[in-house]
Amino acid sequence: MRWIMLGPPGSGKGTQAKKLAAAFGADHLSTGDMLRSEVASGTELGCSARTYMDRGDLVPDELILKMIAGRLESMSNGDGFILDGFPRTEAQAVALDKMLDTMKRSIDRVVLVKVGDEEIKSRLAGRARQEGRADDTEEVINRRLDVYRKQTAPLIAYYSGKGRLSEVVGERPIDVVYGDLKKLAES
Ligand code: ADP
Repeated sequence: MRWIMLGPPGSGKGTQAKKLAAAFGADHLSTGDMLRSEVASGTELGCSARTYMDRGDLVPDELILKMIAGRLESMSNGDGFILDGFPRTEAQAVALDKMLDTMKRSIDRVVLVKVGDEEIKSRLAGRARQEGRADDTEEVINRRLDVYRKQTAPLIAYYSGKGRLSEVVGERPIDVVYGDLKKLAES
């Protein structure tokens, strides 16, 4: 399993990536989780990233690529990996292709988790109440959606052009979405 999970913020791709990784023994790499842990430990990278994250902007490609490179290389070859929240820009996708080429690996599936804007907004507002994430305020949510449309959504065409894109409807219960993903993984 060498997958990329693509989808808007709040689409549930992180939840699904975690479940799949546990079930299939794959490594789960979430750039959002990695960044939050850098912020929490107060590293130099975390401090630089935080300003962007709090505004709902993307952290510059250069920082993300530096952060992910070592992790990709140190991953066991075994049962594969699920990339969650990366790549998020076309430049990141191109850089990922290069890194994987060097490692003689490739992506076998890109899964788009589709969820409409209204549902996203209500989910993120709910998460803000529960978890108090600094980037879940209304203004920042709108900014993140905008950034997704402009910078990340073009990756749908990028990967569908390479014939590796599959879609699942994310506006259904977690286990139902998971059932579809499991079938894809087993097919
Ligand atoms: P969500 O998918 O809910 O927006 P994530 O946890 O994936 O949340 O990411 C949170 C924030 O971390 C993003 O809004 C962005 O600022 C930053 N981030 C995560 N991954 C990347 C990436 N690949 N490139 C640039 N910024 C990123």
